[in-house]
Amino acid sequence: MRVPPRRLAGDCGGHRRGGSPAPGELGVPPGDLLVALGPAILACCYEVGEDVAAAVASRVGSPPGLAPASGKPGRLRLDLHLANRIQLERAGVAAGAIHEAPWCTRCRDDLFFSFRREGEGAGRQMAAVGPAADP
Ligand SMILES: [Zn+2]
Repeated sequence: MRVPPRRLAGDCGGHRRGGSPAPGELGVPPGDLLVALGPAILACCYEVGEDVAAAVASRVGSPPGLAPASGKPGRLRLDLHLANRIQLERAGVAAGAIHEAPWCTRCRDDLFFSFRREGEGAGRQMAAVGPAADP
């Protein structure tokens, strides 16, 4: 017997070295999840060292989540959204249930603060999530 989907909402903070709960650890079947990946520094701007690249590669493989940064030995571009998408799909979340915000927080200084762009004095982003009102 299948339990009807519940109306729950949650927020999981991601981290480049891991740390978010796996979808199966949330108490909801991964196939019932709808995932929104919020604004983040994207592959156009996000360079990491080999230590971070190795940690990501151990989770998602290399590539497609990693690409060499041009002209910078030991530096790689990391596509955080792609790395998260790969992990979510492997855990059973439907590809069509994963939505990605298209903005790079470093590029879009008109919309977002960015530690990578502004340094220690950067402001902070805030997000809220919850179930929509009944129609
Ligand atoms: Zn960018």
